[in-house]
Amino acid sequence: MSGFERFFNTVNGAPVQSTTGRWFISENPYTGEPWAEVPQCGVADVEAAVEAAHAAFTTGPWATLTATARGKLLRRLGDLIARDAERLAKLETRDNGKLYAEMSGQVRYLPEYYYYFAGLADKIEGGVLPPDKSDVFIYTKHEPLGVVVCITPWNSPLLLLTWKLAAALAAGNTVVIKPSEFTSVSTLEFVKLAEEAGFPSGVINTVTGYGHEIGAALVEHPKVAKVAFTGGDATGAAVYAGAAKGLKHVTLELGGKSPNIIFEDANLDDAVKGAISGIFAASGQTCIAGSRLLVQRSVYDEVSRRVVDFAAGARLGDPMQADTQVGPITTQPQRKKVLDYIAVAKAEGAECLLGGKVPADSALKNGWFVEPTIFGNVTNDMRIAREEVFGPVLSIIPFEDDEDAIRIANDTIYGLAAGVWTQNMRRAVRMADALKAGTVWVNTYRAVSFLAPFGGYKKSGIGRENGQEAIYEYLQTKCVWLNLAEGVPNPFVLR
Ligand code: NAD
Repeated sequence: MSGFERFFNTVNGAPVQSTTGRWFISENPYTGEPWAEVPQCGVADVEAAVEAAHAAFTTGPWATLTATARGKLLRRLGDLIARDAERLAKLETRDNGKLYAEMSGQVRYLPEYYYYFAGLADKIEGGVLPPDKSDVFIYTKHEPLGVVVCITPWNSPLLLLTWKLAAALAAGNTVVIKPSEFTSVSTLEFVKLAEEAGFPSGVINTVTGYGHEIGAALVEHPKVAKVAFTGGDATGAAVYAGAAKGLKHVTLELGGKSPNIIFEDANLDDAVKGAISGIFAASGQTCIAGSRLLVQRSVYDEVSRRVVDFAAGARLGDPMQADTQVGPITTQPQRKKVLDYIAVAKAEGAECLLGGKVPADSALKNGWFVEPTIFGNVTNDMRIAREEVFGPVLSIIPFEDDEDAIRIANDTIYGLAAGVWTQNMRRAVRMADALKAGTVWVNTYRAVSFLAPFGGYKKSGIGRENGQEAIYEYLQTKCVWLNLAEGVPNPFVLR
């Protein structure tokens, strides 16, 4: 025995190890120390989890449960999350290094997603169609897809799982969850709450392990009907290609290079705070990070100076402490990637206004920190402005007028989110129309809600999570025709 805490998967309602007998280690990004062991599953474990989910979908009690009863289970799960929010938030912080102050708020908000989709479960109505032919009665109904695989990244494991799980379950599907190999623990603990809530065995199953070992087996399994994925765009493309082999449904939530645009008529106090929270919250490790700060030329110097001053005062430290403002990077490979991008930006001639290195403070030496970093006078053709860094690195890009801002903002392969800071409401609405992004925030940034559809334009993804339309991503429509006439007309002619 290694002495680390061990966590187990849930398959068919029971805790299981892996058939491989192997484990992998989870490390605390602040201390750099290994602390947990998680089963390193193989293809046989994928098989068992998908079979359990398929059996629960086709023959278990779940198959005949009413939508109202599913809603009650989701509500109970929401209550249990609220009860255990502090414990789950601490687990997340320990495993992925995000600030407890943020995780605590995030986990306390999670029940709202389950309550919302609980309420939606029995409000998905089919319809009776006005027929264009005599003697027929036509109606539609919505049915679940079957087994849904949910694949999540390391940056917000429980939130991004919830964005899939609540809608998938409300719609009547069963699920197999594969969390990131870097941050599996909170998901494994979370799924125990679903068992406690009373979801029948096999409705929610987990497999932990490396994407390259079990990812394809999950995505391409013939009994899987849909893959709901959040992660990087290269992995997303591989998932899309794998799912296409079986013509499966997919939703993909991928990366971003979101523009956060400050006009000269903005309230600059608010805009500076919006720029800071857009990139330095969660150490920049969010898909919606406002990593390109577009600033109108007339206020460029002032805004740059104020953003740098604000970020320079950020307190780096233990993510569990309430007064810490910037935590570590979640994984060692990710920290290396961030530092590599900083080197690329310097080599490209971007002007490093702040940070650009690992902090010298000896109190931080064990954690995977990178200083809040700001580059000025970036041009939109530099790699630092085109590629997703996923770290605390801001590029400031000057622009002249509205048209210039729109041109630069949309000159990206991504389209997840955008921010606009202006006190002119006409300009705000014109910008919201012109920006090619799934979410546009005006005079705010990083706001999300259970009722607001979230997803990407262009290479930021396919489909939407949250809001009423999300449940249709987990449903298919059936059209039923009843012949009311006596006898069957000419059988050789289509009616
Ligand atoms: P990643 O793509 O490396 O991994 C995501 C998940 O996919 C992990 O669980 C991983 O094990 C799994 N995986 C890896 N290879 C696979 C394969 N071949 N088949 C199936 N699954 C496979 O992403 P990451 O590094 O964990 O997360 C960071 C990325 O996630 C960033 O690019 C970020 O923008 C994106 N992200 C997007 C959103 C969004 O909602 N749009 C939210 C958060 C993060």
